[in-house]
Amino acid sequence: MKTSVVGYPRIGENRELKFASEKFFKGQIDEAELDSVSKAIRVHNWLKQLTAGISFISSNDFSYYDNVLDTAVLFNIIPDRYKKLGLSDKETYFALARGYQGENGDVKALAMKKWFNTNYHYLVPEIDDDTRVELVGNKPFDEYLEAKTIGIETRVVITGPFTLLNLIRYTGSKTREDFKDSFIRVYSSFIEKLNTMGVKWVQFDEPYIVKDIDETDKKLFVEIYTKLLSNKNAVKVLLQTYFGDVRDVYKELITLDFDGVGLDFVEGRKTLELVVNEGFPKDKLLFAGLVNGKNIWRNDYVKTIGLIKTIKGSGVDQDNIVINTSCSLLHVPNSLDGEKKLSEDYKKHFAFAAEKLVELSELSTLTANPEYVNDSRYINNQNLLTNRKNILDEAVKKRVEEIKDEDYTRLPVFEEREKVQKAKLNLPAFPTTTIGSFPQTADVKRNRTLFRKGEISKKEYVDFNKKKIAECISLQEEIGLDVLVHGEYERNDMVEYFGEHLSGYVFTENAWVQSYGTRCVKPPIIWGDVSRKDPITVLWSKYAKSCTNKPVKGMLTGPVTILNWSFPREDISIKESTLQIALAIRDEVLDLEANGIDIIQIDEAALREKLPLRKSDWYSEYLDWAIPAFRLVHSGVKPETQIHTHMCYSEFTDIIPAIDAMDADVITFEASRSDLQILDSLKEHNFKTEVGPGVYDIHSPRIPSVEELVAALEKMREKIDDRKLWVNPDCGLKTRGETETKASLINLVAAAKKLNRVNNPQPV
Ligand code: GLN
Ligand code: ZN
Repeated sequence: MKTSVVGYPRIGENRELKFASEKFFKGQIDEAELDSVSKAIRVHNWLKQLTAGISFISSNDFSYYDNVLDTAVLFNIIPDRYKKLGLSDKETYFALARGYQGENGDVKALAMKKWFNTNYHYLVPEIDDDTRVELVGNKPFDEYLEAKTIGIETRVVITGPFTLLNLIRYTGSKTREDFKDSFIRVYSSFIEKLNTMGVKWVQFDEPYIVKDIDETDKKLFVEIYTKLLSNKNAVKVLLQTYFGDVRDVYKELITLDFDGVGLDFVEGRKTLELVVNEGFPKDKLLFAGLVNGKNIWRNDYVKTIGLIKTIKGSGVDQDNIVINTSCSLLHVPNSLDGEKKLSEDYKKHFAFAAEKLVELSELSTLTANPEYVNDSRYINNQNLLTNRKNILDEAVKKRVEEIKDEDYTRLPVFEEREKVQKAKLNLPAFPTTTIGSFPQTADVKRNRTLFRKGEISKKEYVDFNKKKIAECISLQEEIGLDVLVHGEYERNDMVEYFGEHLSGYVFTENAWVQSYGTRCVKPPIIWGDVSRKDPITVLWSKYAKSCTNKPVKGMLTGPVTILNWSFPREDISIKESTLQIALAIRDEVLDLEANGIDIIQIDEAALREKLPLRKSDWYSEYLDWAIPAFRLVHSGVKPETQIHTHMCYSEFTDIIPAIDAMDADVITFEASRSDLQILDSLKEHNFKTEVGPGVYDIHSPRIPSVEELVAALEKMREKIDDRKLWVNPDCGLKTRGETETKASLINLVAAAKKLNRVNNPQPV
């Protein structure tokens, strides 16, 4: 059987692209040097796939920043404000991606959004009524030729027209329908060019069709591809989907003139059913996404070979099945070679991108051998999966089983708690607070690094943090904030820090995954049953509390976010893992409370990340357990303990009732960049939780004036009852400088006081 890779990680095995790009941004290297680093990565990736015997190797899966942006730029979808800067092509590209501030002008970056249900972010292209969509770039062609010169015939990959039309932001009065014809025209030119170059295969990525597709969408999709395919000539076209199944357009997909269709058998719950029930045409290749491109566990060969047998049994010819990755390998780390410290006992269970290539080729060999059950590769794989040790903890399992319905409900009800809390905390109206972290200055990072390397003692490490906490508390007192925080100086990352204090977690050294542009994350791996080893934050919060008479807010990361930013287990459901984490964090909540912390914030920054792509699955597949998991964390506290939560994006307008059902007492969220739209939905749904919509954007060093903060708050008061409004920045301050932080917070407090001249207590 042939094998295929949808796309390969492009940051380099040691994040070479990140470091080279950052140097380029600082003017330390020139374009030529950046190009040579990127070329080395591409060549390395192609040769790696070639050596592994992959039949379909992709090109143009490389990107300096993001593939959606690449496609927009290829087709001249570049707003005038960037063109006017008069920069070189590459500099213009980076201006779109990161903004530009310099001699040639001052423009912000394009908006960035999460790529479907992943933690990768794409840039949202903008199109206005005057945009002339033209094929102006050469990147896909150049990269194809680059591979060709080293003897590799690649399949050229590009974001498909339907997905692009749907992801673009239309800033004028025209809609996607108005741009349909010009898209057909430029994608046709693109195909024509591939033909003149003798390219054999092209891959159109169309993940958008795994979402809910209605009749209008379907019509558009069919029209675009009918027209495009009627002129495709010699080049063969693969329509590639991922992150789910294509139930709404399967019938159309298999009747259109594609030469190959790529389906996701890992995340697509109905994919197999579609192929078996609806059939798959004899004249097309089925690119079967069987090797998980999103998670790091070894493939289960019994399961995969079983699936292939079922596909064959449904009438698809063995020669027409191509074993594929379920999506681009962009979402997993590069190679286990980078893990020097991790024990082989763990490593043998993992497959990063490089190891997935081996799996593809082993699966191809095994499926060609009728005696595969005797093949050592098959036997080893089975032994590995059946003999996984040290992952189970009976006590944890039992604890999850014993969760009772009432454990998901905090009593008394919100309205009663609210009164008790107001009486106890005695805060002024429009209470002011922050989201938790304070600037992570060089000395703070250094303290952690020295401790990690064993160069300072635990006592020295703790003492330094205590000194920072004391300073942070007195700064907040000086500024006049009402609810204080300890500053989070102990944390490198809000998930990794918690993972390090939980048993059941494994950490990697070098397993970086691109999150956006040059930003990479290193998600920890949930290896086994999770429980709390020892108190995680109590020391810090307790110390902070001892420094002041004002209320101090304890600061935790919530179970759904911890899960969503880790590589999850596959032998139990993510629901079960989340409940285990929830119980661990619950212990921490109760410990904080027992130590006199009467306000506790449980951050759920990534709550929305695993929200299913189909609306119809939102509750049954996700929210119905994710929200109760959050409630389990705080249901054990006393009525007078105030529970806060924080969400980074205000993109929850459509799940407001679910957010209210988290049953927190206060929620803070990012609102300053979204024109406060969310306030209308809060009002409309009679949102009961008290709210702190961020009054200024912490992603920028700008200091907001008192007047603009008052104006923002006055707008909020039109929609939110005075009894429920909190005043805070929109996220943590860890990436900000000290000077701008202090100035901004002084203005924030001044603005709150203007609303509250007589200093009334927070109304009941
Ligand atoms: N408490 C965290 C902080 O202040 C929240 C971070 C986040 O929302 N991503 O940094
Ligand atoms: Zn945030």
